[in-house]
Amino acid sequence: MNYDKILIRYGDLIMKGRNRSQFEKRLLQQLKRALRPFEALTYFKTYGRLTISLNGESYEPIAARIKDIFGIASFSPVISVENDLEKIREASLLLMKSLETPPKTFKVAAKRGWKAYPHSSQEMNHLVGSYVLPAMPELKVDVRNPEVELRVDVQEEATYIFVKVEMAAGGFPFGSNGKALLLLSGGIDSPVAGWMAMRKGLELEAVHFHSYPFTSEKAKEKVIDLARRLSYYAGVPFKLHLVPFTDIQTRLAAAKQDNLIITLMRRAMLRITEQLAVKNGANGIVTGESLGQVASQTLGSMNVIGRATDLPLIKPLVMMDKQEIINEAVKIGTFETSILPYEDCCTLFLPKSPSTNPNLKVVEYTEASIKELDQLIAEAVEGTELMTLTPDAPAQAEDAGEDRWF
Ligand code: ATP
Ligand code: MG
Repeated sequence: MNYDKILIRYGDLIMKGRNRSQFEKRLLQQLKRALRPFEALTYFKTYGRLTISLNGESYEPIAARIKDIFGIASFSPVISVENDLEKIREASLLLMKSLETPPKTFKVAAKRGWKAYPHSSQEMNHLVGSYVLPAMPELKVDVRNPEVELRVDVQEEATYIFVKVEMAAGGFPFGSNGKALLLLSGGIDSPVAGWMAMRKGLELEAVHFHSYPFTSEKAKEKVIDLARRLSYYAGVPFKLHLVPFTDIQTRLAAAKQDNLIITLMRRAMLRITEQLAVKNGANGIVTGESLGQVASQTLGSMNVIGRATDLPLIKPLVMMDKQEIINEAVKIGTFETSILPYEDCCTLFLPKSPSTNPNLKVVEYTEASIKELDQLIAEAVEGTELMTLTPDAPAQAEDAGEDRWF
């Protein structure tokens, strides 16, 4: 079928008030940026939605890109015609005849969005249906459970005719709800948390802690690849802060509180991240934690770890099961990279029995006994390396090992 436009519907943007037009503007900006390679496209904003004119570009690759843009709930390839009954009827028939698998049943679902149009929705259902039916003898009307719903949407600027509604990512446009830092490990969870946070309109920059030379160059590349994948969803160059964590880990390990070491490391991570957040104008920290998944993610641990920062900790995965998280990771295309078997900085120091219920007093006492801790934290912030990633550079993923994720 020769669709000439794409009709875009917003997601959570159906919010009232002043913010709405800002969100719409931002979404249009992001859409244009993401679809820049398709040079012929033109854009048109009407109240509550957007249309893109294809101007000869083919629909499929554009649809594939639109699916991943935050703030778009759904979209449809449409034929647009003047608000003229004969034209609407002809285009409707053309569309019905062009369907790859000819349906046996259909119904017309007309909507009069422009109230000045002379025929009501009900009348249009009838006027269009009675034109299509005689021209397609195999076709019957089924209002309850039709194979095809022929939508006829009369708006002031044009009438849109379509049968397909494709789901997109939903949520809010990237950056429309403020900025946060994502704690990005090389694991399965944190990239998914990042995707979910961006979907809710958070602008993100990622922070990764490495223990070079204990962790390898490969481990670093893996995180870069994950951040690069997130940059595709962000639709803008994506910042990755690489924090040298070796000295702090070594010093914390020397405190000989083996079962508290993960708690101590996480708190140090949060302190460093808080300082990076202040420097970079971010107001929250996103992590990939999921309740009960490991010792450091029990409620008791979260309580003691979270007290190390005053910033809100956002944990999109907190109530999800591992399998659900894995399914999301597969969908967003990070899973294969995440299961590459390179050491994470924390696994290096993993004790035999990490505390599931760390004692805040002991933790604070231990930290206070490390006189140079603040200095080490300041040095880590100072030594942080910044990379800016775009999705275009080739990924360097290697063959993934099997069953590495539990
Ligand atoms: P993930 O799959 O995201 O690594 P996980 O199940 O392995 O999560 P943990 O290793 O306990 O869980 O980490 C919990 C969270 O702490 C991670 O989701 C991530 O947000 C953060 N985190 C852990 N290690 C690092 C790191 N090296 N750099 C930055 N953030 C980290
Ligand atoms: Mg991990």
